[in-house]
Amino acid sequence: MEDPIEKLSQYFKEFPGIGERQAKRFVYFLLHKNPNYVKELGDSIMILKNLIHQCPSCFLFFKGDHDELCEVCKNPKTDKTSLLIIEKDADYENIKKSKNYSGMYFILGGLVPIVTKETPNFVRIKELISAISNKAINNNLKEIIIALSLNPQGEHTDMYLREKISPLQEKYKFKIVSLGRGLSTGTELEYSDSETIKNALKNRA
Ligand SMILES: [Zn+2]
Repeated sequence: MEDPIEKLSQYFKEFPGIGERQAKRFVYFLLHKNPNYVKELGDSIMILKNLIHQCPSCFLFFKGDHDELCEVCKNPKTDKTSLLIIEKDADYENIKKSKNYSGMYFILGGLVPIVTKETPNFVRIKELISAISNKAINNNLKEIIIALSLNPQGEHTDMYLREKISPLQEKYKFKIVSLGRGLSTGTELEYSDSETIKNALKNRA
């Protein structure tokens, strides 16, 4: 039989940013915890996949039924003329906390590596193009805000998106802005505080 310590650390090693040593630390941490804690942790993981689904329109994870729209997409108060493109769910949490944006979102699901031939595999570009056309036709879309991290890969993705979106822009005449200018170079949106995001949103250009 496989060593249970080895087996569990292999799982932890797949977590973002977790290496061999940290994975082992997690395993020993659990071995020291009381059985209740470990059971509840296991249960929480089990129900996660049952209760949380991805919105078919913006790709946010939320608590709801499969195929149902998320709170943002469903809410009549959401400003349907503005679409904010972000890399991941954690960025959404941060922008929501800054309380300075009331429009729609789109989760890109990643960034485009600078050297690659298979771009479409890294981001939801097909889905984005269809979401934009849809919103331009049905919601009078006026503005797209690209809000990616200000690092080389984020800037590369920003350029890639502009290139892909530009035929639609010519057709539907919406504005494209990048949030990055209000953040300092190297900033990850995920780690920006509410005040910084608020200013970046205010000064978007
Ligand atoms: Zn949604």
